[in-house]
Amino acid sequence: MEYILTTQDLCKSYGKADVLKNVSLHIPKGAIYGLIGKNGAGKTTIMRVITGLQKPTSGSYSICGIENSDSDIQNIRRRTGALIESVALYNDLTAYDNLKVQFLNLGLSSYDRIDELLKLVGLDQTGKKRAGKFSLGMKQRLGIAIALCGNPDILILDEPINGLDPQGIIEIREMLLGINKNQGTTILISSHLLDELSRVADNYGFIDNGKIIREVSKEDLEKSLRKSTVIKVDDVKKTVTCLDNKGLEYDVGKDQSINIYSDNLKASALVVELAESGIEVLNITQQEETLESYFMNLISDKKGAEDA
Ligand code: ATP
Repeated sequence: MEYILTTQDLCKSYGKADVLKNVSLHIPKGAIYGLIGKNGAGKTTIMRVITGLQKPTSGSYSICGIENSDSDIQNIRRRTGALIESVALYNDLTAYDNLKVQFLNLGLSSYDRIDELLKLVGLDQTGKKRAGKFSLGMKQRLGIAIALCGNPDILILDEPINGLDPQGIIEIREMLLGINKNQGTTILISSHLLDELSRVADNYGFIDNGKIIREVSKEDLEKSLRKSTVIKVDDVKKTVTCLDNKGLEYDVGKDQSINIYSDNLKASALVVELAESGIEVLNITQQEETLESYFMNLISDKKGAEDA
């Protein structure tokens, strides 16, 4: 596997507060890597460190194989584009002129790509409208276009869908999928909106309290999301005894539904077996664990292990 960006035991402390604790990330070339964690987990700090806005307290990172201690890192950093925290726009300027300013900042003399970039982010019809009058979604898209001005190999986006309405979220999602697919740009994107992230990311890093608790590909994640069968029965107590006898893992919900965790449970056989014990199954559905509950389980497993 070729990694375009890695971090090795990255630590960042502010005074006595250890915000990043031995963070080791592996971002494959061409991936959309979703960094998932609750508010305050350390996502922005990772991004600030790898974009050079802040220095790590210890540990290292490398971009395109160049370590941060190497003097070449400044040149390599030009191959990254980032949108971290709020979008810095010139509100009095049009989308075109905002991009022109960024081209000038980057020392690019030809503005040929500006129209192409505006089209890519769906802002090619905004004409003379000033950025200050844009919707939040449009501002985010303009921010992403600014990050793309240097034609980066890696796009780093901190919570780009925060605060957007459902339509805005869909637009950003489709745009990112297009950029990744058509330009081959690797994207590192953070979010606490897990289910939304699962619609774009193909690799994940789960972060909690400054620690990476798991890195996993979408493929492996899908395999490990637990499948369950949810039943409603006329006698919960009797059913629980039956499930215990069969050695099945389950939990009973507040509404008295029983969630049985098993990848290969045959629903029809279960109904027959329970019927033989005098239990009537009133309703039966199959479901897959959500990313949300997978993450919550990961955190609680970790806490359990640390408390033990
Ligand atoms: P959010 O989703 O809320 O943006 P996050 O996962 O991006 O959260 P960070 O912004 O990286 O989290 O913050 C991680 C922790 O570091 C927080 O507890 C935050 O208060 C703290 N922190 C961040 N920047 C500083 C700073 N400059 N000085 C002190 N503490 C800081």
